[in-house]
Amino acid sequence: MNKIIEVRSLSKTFDNKKALKEISLEIAHSGITALLGPSGSGKSTLLRHLSGLVFSDHREGTEVRVMGELVQSHGKAAPQVRRCRARAGYIFQQFNLVNRLSVLTNVLIGALSSTAKWRTLTGCFTQEQRQQAMAALERVGMAAFADQRVSTLSGGQQQRVAIARSLMQQASIIFADEPIASLDPESARTVMELLKDINEREGIPVVVTLHQVDYALKYCQQLVALREGEVFYQGAAADITEQALTALYTKAPTSDP
Ligand code: ADP
Ligand code: MG
Repeated sequence: MNKIIEVRSLSKTFDNKKALKEISLEIAHSGITALLGPSGSGKSTLLRHLSGLVFSDHREGTEVRVMGELVQSHGKAAPQVRRCRARAGYIFQQFNLVNRLSVLTNVLIGALSSTAKWRTLTGCFTQEQRQQAMAALERVGMAAFADQRVSTLSGGQQQRVAIARSLMQQASIIFADEPIASLDPESARTVMELLKDINEREGIPVVVTLHQVDYALKYCQQLVALREGEVFYQGAAADITEQALTALYTKAPTSDP
């Protein structure tokens, strides 16, 4: 069976700073995987590489595969990178919806590939696409808000609309970068429950960065922990020890005097 994620020898340098240091990892589990680690450890950078939004340092032997498809190799886009991008649902801390458009239109945008000119197309969706978008909104409990502007919604509601957009996109995997970091605890629980339910019922694997360890341990079966650009732990969430978690968030001793 294909692995969900395969990363081989991935490095990313920004202005002489190494954000990812030759990391390799595999995720074989199609459940929910949490990416953990202190702020600045490279979680968002790794997630962007998985979705083919950014490319690694130019190195022989570097490879990123998602759902068995090559996304990039030695710092260059694979030929199928567009298709990979179109099949990856992306959920962000700040929701990234279009505030002045309706909830329904934001979901319909998921039907267009990342290259589409949605500004001119928003009036041109088919009846069938509208029905699919309404079904996606039903799925996340937001159908009653279809005609409202996004700007009138709470953060938790906006995140549910972003999840509906991924469903409309027929995403084969969902990447979520700190999806609950801006939410109150109740909305955070609702969003995590929804991701869990979609993972279980639709079978869409989810990779989610979280800075709250307790949410990761509650909702995620697999963990990948990064520390200073290196893989600190990868494996079952149930197997990580208290000591490892403490060490993860403790600054590494430096050799500087
Ligand atoms: P995390 O998501 O774990 O907080 P990031 O992946 O955002 O960490 O960042 C990892 C490191 O890379 C940090 O030191 C950050 O400052 C740096 N970094 C990330 N993106 C950029 C960028 N576009 N330009 C320069 N430095 C960046
Ligand atoms: Mg981040």
